[in-house]
Amino acid sequence: MIKTDIIIIGAGPVGLFTIFEAGLMKLHCHVIDAIPKVGGQLKEIYPKKAIYDIPGFPSVLAGALIDNLEK
Ligand SMILES: Cc1cc2nc3c(=O)[nH]c(=O)nc-3n(C[C@H](O)[C@H](O)[C@H](O)COP(=O)(O)OP(=O)(O)OC[C@H]3O[C@@H](n4cnc5c(N)ncnc54)[C@H](O)[C@@H]3O)c2cc1C
Repeated sequence: MIKTDIIIIGAGPVGLFTIFEAGLMKLHCHVIDAIPKVGGQLKEIYPKKAIYDIPGFPSVLAGALIDNLEK
């Protein structure tokens, strides 16, 4: 049996950000996704597209944003 504080459904950007915030509060997460890849739509559909609405990043490739969220 897996013991955890939080179960997150979906390893898209929202799920990855949630993991980060939970970590700040010392909460353990277990993440479940239907596909075997992290990153949701950004990695699966448009990893090479530049996005312009992430605070602090005038422009960032969707795939690169996910790589950084994973780190
Ligand atoms: C072509 C395109 C371009 C876009 N460009 C931009 C942009 O420039 N800027 C911007 O801000 N937004 C953009 N968006 C929107 C952006 O991609 C979404 O707002 C964002 O992906 C939502 O993140 P999320 O983590 O909530 O969900 P998602 O990225 O959709 O990830 C959800 C994850 O949950 C998994 N999942 C879903 N249901 C289940 C389930 N029942 N069980 C297990 N796993 C499940 C999926 O497999 C997926 O991996 C774009 C979208 C598209 C399609």
